Amino acid sequence: MRSRKSKKDILIIEDDPRNLKLVRDLLQVSGYSVLVATNGRDGLEIAKKERPHLILMDIQLPDLDGLEAAKILKSIKTTKIIPIIALTAYAMEKDEQRVRNAGCDAYISKPINVKHFLRTIKYHLISK
Ligand code: MN
Repeated sequence: MRSRKSKKDILIIEDDPRNLKLVRDLLQVSGYSVLVATNGRDGLEIAKKERPHLILMDIQLPDLDGLEAAKILKSIKTTKIIPIIALTAYAMEKDEQRVRNAGCDAYISKPINVKHFLRTIKYHLISK
């Protein structure tokens, strides 16, 4: 069972290589186990198969929009409990509403503030 695993799995769905590397490094250094997808379709497949403890979802993805992917995951019985944190390029109020409407639990705007980023992840992991 999942509770016997010491490390929490976090799935990153992000197409930008630099941002992906930054986020992955930060999470690994912080003791998390990381899964990666670089497009929405792969992200959905990995999420359904692996059921990670949390998903970091980029909004702008090459195929499936990140918000669409979030909506799908929140509509599936086995994945809807997984917290989804959106990664957005803009910190606009309109954006926040869209992110919430898609069922995301939180959002983090880029560029990432490391302290805020790690605190947000920890909060959503333990509140699961
Ligand atoms: Mn992107």
